[in-house]
Amino acid sequence: MNSYEHIVLDISEEGERLLEGRLILREDVQKVIQHAEATGKKLVHRCTGRSLAFYRPKAVTYWVEYSRTDEAYRVFTAYSHRMVLKSSGSTNEWVKSGAGSDWHCDQCRTPLEVQTVRLQYMQSIFPINLPACSSCGFILIDEELAIGKVAEAEQALEDK
Ligand SMILES: [Zn+2]
Repeated sequence: MNSYEHIVLDISEEGERLLEGRLILREDVQKVIQHAEATGKKLVHRCTGRSLAFYRPKAVTYWVEYSRTDEAYRVFTAYSHRMVLKSSGSTNEWVKSGAGSDWHCDQCRTPLEVQTVRLQYMQSIFPINLPACSSCGFILIDEELAIGKVAEAEQALEDK
């Protein structure tokens, strides 16, 4: 039994449908949570206390928003993207826009700040403003962006 298989998930019916529609397996969700809990690499929301983490086993990055209950991990949402988050060189080169975020980096105990970072997909690199942790370089791609602009950009590049 792989270690991620011990992760017990609590997913609503609606959540199950969402995962199915997005072609995300329960196994993918388990792997994200297992990775986040084992490494401590995750974001925590200031108001809800929920965790948000990602894991990229192969060509796809999976994100899961979840919280820990006594027996299980309750899953609020999950989404994926293929684009790679590239914090080019050092985080010192990032340009802060001054805007904050409700998420903070759990490992660094640092609130995320909006920075100009670079996203890479195939041969193309896009500069984009995203909330990120300037200590460890954790970049947040939120659900709206992943299923919106990022998905569109991936599609456009594949169609070339
Ligand atoms: Zn950090």
